Amino acid sequence: MPGGICRGVGVGGHISGGGYGPLSRRYGLISDHLYGVEVVTVGRDGSTNLTVATRDGPHRDLWWAHTGGGGGNFGIVTRFLLRSPGSDGSDPATALPAPPRAVLTTRLTLPVTTEDSFLRFMRNYLEFFSVHRNPGNRFAGLYAPISFRPTLTGFGEMLILQTADEPDARARVEEFIATVTEGVFPGPVIRPLTEQSYPDTVANTYYAGAPSDRRVKTKAAYCGSPTRPNNSAFSTAISSPPPPSANRKSNSCRSAVLSTRSRPIPRPHRRATRS
Ligand SMILES: Cc1cc2nc3c(=O)[nH]c(=O)nc-3n(C[C@H](O)[C@H](O)[C@H](O)COP(=O)(O)OP(=O)(O)OC[C@H]3O[C@@H](n4cnc5c(N)ncnc54)[C@H](O)[C@@H]3O)c2cc1C
Repeated sequence: MPGGICRGVGVGGHISGGGYGPLSRRYGLISDHLYGVEVVTVGRDGSTNLTVATRDGPHRDLWWAHTGGGGGNFGIVTRFLLRSPGSDGSDPATALPAPPRAVLTTRLTLPVTTEDSFLRFMRNYLEFFSVHRNPGNRFAGLYAPISFRPTLTGFGEMLILQTADEPDARARVEEFIATVTEGVFPGPVIRPLTEQSYPDTVANTYYAGAPSDRRVKTKAAYCGSPTRPNNSAFSTAISSPPPPSANRKSNSCRSAVLSTRSRPIPRPHRRATRS
């Protein structure tokens, strides 16, 4: 699945909030592959209903709400039904995207640098992904999240993952590195490329050795337009501010955005990084 690979993230909030990961540049968000949800909703009178909402069924709005509207806003999901668009589910081999045969991994560490050089680096990085942004582009198999914090050897670190299925996968990584580091002085330190299966990459590369109970209070939400023009219930919820007494939770995407302003994280968790 093209979702995130961080430990401590559960499917409940991740799929409902959209969810992206190393394979998303090729396969989209994890919610793009959400065919349906079995969800418990609560009526105005407090009664509960168990509904199966699918992308082609009678409760399409409720399914759509779970493809990026954020967890905890519409009901309690008891089952996620996963099937890619275009599949009727009859062939498990094609119901979901095929995982890559293997993944190339390296890390790029940016030493402390001048402001000009830093800006050059960021411009190179953003322009690269601006050029290679369309579905199916030559670098759709490349995922390179970057984080900045002081370390022993530098202050910026980029994890570079490239699916190894393409015959010139190594050359693509080299081309990417050459592009983002062009004109950057001093140059970055690059670790040797390793090749592992996707599960081993997940297990050994991301947060290797980190405690598995790392949690932060974050809520993902990606608000898009309803796919049906007359989706009045949701467009009202998103566009009108709630009355002062209203519970923020009832305001779909807006409440998801508000709740990303998390409380300060206690010190031991400050070292945690988000992808
Ligand atoms: C270390 C870390 C790394 C991350 N990396 C990524 C990443 O790479 N890509 C990415 O897209 N996001 C990433 N995220 C964000 C993550 O996807 C969201 O925080 C997501 O909401 C977490 O879901 P959860 O179920 O684990 O969290 P929770 O805090 O348990 O849930 C989040 C919200 O969803 C609700 N919820 C949970 N389960 C259900 C359910 N079954 N039915 C209805 N509502 C439910 C909860 O009530 C809550 O409101 C990361 C988060 C962390 C902490």
